[in-house]
Amino acid sequence: MIEPIIKMKNMSVIYNKGKENEFRASDGLNLEIYPGEYIIFFGPSGCGKSTALYTILGVLTPTEGEILVKGENPYEYTPQELVHYQTSVIGIMYQAFYLIPSLTIADNVTLPLIFQGIHPNIRKKRAQELLDRFGVGSHGHKLPEALSGGQTQRVSVARAFVNDPEILLADEPVGNLDSISAGQVMDTLDEINRRDKKTIILVTHDAKYLPYAHRVIYIKDGRVVRIVPNPEKKQIARVDQQKTLVTEMEQLAKVHPYLSPSELKVKSIINFLTQGQTLEQLQRLEECAKLMIDGMMQREQFYQILIDDLEKGGIGLPPTVAEDMTDKICRVLDQSKDVRRYRRRLERNNFFDTDRALINKLAKDLVDECDCKLEPKIRTRLKDNIYNRVSGLSRPEDFYLRLVKSVEDDGLGFTKELAEKMATYFEKLLIQGLEAEDKGH
Ligand code: ADP
Repeated sequence: MIEPIIKMKNMSVIYNKGKENEFRASDGLNLEIYPGEYIIFFGPSGCGKSTALYTILGVLTPTEGEILVKGENPYEYTPQELVHYQTSVIGIMYQAFYLIPSLTIADNVTLPLIFQGIHPNIRKKRAQELLDRFGVGSHGHKLPEALSGGQTQRVSVARAFVNDPEILLADEPVGNLDSISAGQVMDTLDEINRRDKKTIILVTHDAKYLPYAHRVIYIKDGRVVRIVPNPEKKQIARVDQQKTLVTEMEQLAKVHPYLSPSELKVKSIINFLTQGQTLEQLQRLEECAKLMIDGMMQREQFYQILIDDLEKGGIGLPPTVAEDMTDKICRVLDQSKDVRRYRRRLERNNFFDTDRALINKLAKDLVDECDCKLEPKIRTRLKDNIYNRVSGLSRPEDFYLRLVKSVEDDGLGFTKELAEKMATYFEKLLIQGLEAEDKGH
């Protein structure tokens, strides 16, 4: 069992304690954050997200309770220990970049190393490596004023990373950027989390970034109101999936994590209208689907209930519709087993140990389902796309985009319609392929 890297125990921060304007900005926080997690503190402006973040940085003493990082209380460190903690254990980046205008980009990045007496050549090398990695390698000799906001923020990532800290804190890091630059910075942080396995704690009030996190901590009036695990990501912390599914909206959001609330509403109503079934029929259908998903019902029983009359406890569908539905559900459930097998292998083995046979089978299933013929080169690209998605290296939209991209551009050159069909079907397999975590295995 892995230990949390950060623990907050009943932690409160009270500004101006004892004065007339006393304010409880963190109110009894109990949190456990695990190594390698990407956590987002989410909530409206003023709810206490940054306050919680700065207690982790070691600059804001909790008024009540305590915070432990790697089992130690940073507020008990000697000044030297605290410097080490704030440079080598924690890295931080802010919405405002705080680069020193008179220093070159490379010197800004390596400033912390100067204080540690590290040789200039080594500093230079380290700066160049990091700037290259974050896509700003040709700007090292320039002054900060010569760079765009997005480039500057990637320099800030490099600076936060120069001592290779285990935990990266980010306070609204893309709040001032246009959406393209923001996306690039968010992808950079995502890569640091996935590739370097660094713990990231990011503060934002913008819901569009939530899909990056393993878990989102919703904060209101200084308190944690709920913690929502992202079903698209393999969880590091132990989470109780059931607790997160409260309303139909949340259920839909789990299935379609990239849709906005209004799109989910449409989805819900369209599902309802196009299927032409009453709510009662849909509810029974769901119950049966659940039994099928849990492996508690056989194909024949499922079909029988679909065609049985409502009075008999059935769903009363015409046989042709029932047959089509039975085929579909059996196909998805059967094929999704391959996804689950594949994910289990990933967990046990080296992450890059690819099981070609399973990927080939998934590719064949997708091609059959969408009734398309692919030449060998395109088929190879499809497998690569499947591998990335099933391993969690890419997101649903990446999968779709590769399908519609032109063949010259390393894509598969699909029509939008075909890409949509394949991507949608594959996401269904992925969802069904998720482990049933709450079954005690
Ligand atoms: P968020 O990051 O969610 O916007 P903050 O943690 O910055 O929220 O602030 C939470 C609340 O605490 C706000 O109402 C803010 O005005 C108040 N606050 C923040 N810092 C101080 C401070 N140094 N002194 C007094 N009140 C503060």
